[in-house]
Amino acid sequence: MTGRVLVLGGTGEARRLAGELVAAGVPVVSSLAGRVAEPRLPPGEVRVGGFGGPTGLAAWLREHGTTAVVDATHPFAAGMTANAVAATRAVGVPLLRLQRPGWTAQPGDDWRRVGSLDAAARAVEGFSSVFLTTGRQGLAAFAGLTAAVLVRSVDPPDPPLPARTTVVLARGPFTVDEERALVLEHRVDVVVTKDSGGAMTAAKLTAARELGLPVVLVDRPPVPDGVPAVGTVAEARAWLADRWQR
Ligand code: NAP
Repeated sequence: MTGRVLVLGGTGEARRLAGELVAAGVPVVSSLAGRVAEPRLPPGEVRVGGFGGPTGLAAWLREHGTTAVVDATHPFAAGMTANAVAATRAVGVPLLRLQRPGWTAQPGDDWRRVGSLDAAARAVEGFSSVFLTTGRQGLAAFAGLTAAVLVRSVDPPDPPLPARTTVVLARGPFTVDEERALVLEHRVDVVVTKDSGGAMTAAKLTAARELGLPVVLVDRPPVPDGVPAVGTVAEARAWLADRWQR
């Protein structure tokens, strides 16, 4: 393989892909947004911070001789995903979306799917103790809640927050026992999460199922039209190998 691959990261899949490419001797640069104070760094070269919109990303791609981009950002990082589409089209560089599949309900689950964080805030009206695991961005949608609210995030969330908020700073993965204990300690009666998918943060769903708690699940944004998408690191590797063999 020749040419430089840009991996838009911030996820476990992005770290694993970067690690495998480095091990295979493929020149790769991983990009992180810089949101988390002490991020888990992928192997290989890493750059941190925004590019300055699609124009900035397009300029970066040209300057760094990039021959392929894998957008392995979180399923809800829709702004970066849209920028990647615009920039790669402008420069004529192939783009792949790598995102893990969403979660699937199992018998015993009481999931209430909603289309947005605002809709999630409406869906928890009437509950008395809400566990918000939607990440520290977007919490403003819940600021008007009067229920007790447990917020869990990696770094401290910024205001506005619901009036009766308790913040727990923690980074997954969590075990089902840990999730059950947290939910019971705070007498949680509804869990709110994004449909992030993956095993790292799924334990809360198992704990909710076992305890008979409803889960408000925010649906992920769609993959942009015309962008090939895969769900696993192995498929992303195969897509990259295919591009270099042509
Ligand atoms: P976003 O709203 O889609 O992106 C906002 C802006 O942040 C982008 O326009 C870009 O700035 C910058 N950015 C985002 N991802 C970047 C990356 N990998 N490298 C360089 N710049 C990046 O993104 P977000 O939802 O805030 O997520 C930020 C990061 O956290 C992503 O890398 C994502 O993978 C990770 N993450 C997000 C979530 C979530 O729930 N959204 C959860 C876990 C991890 P410029 O326009 O200046 O280039």
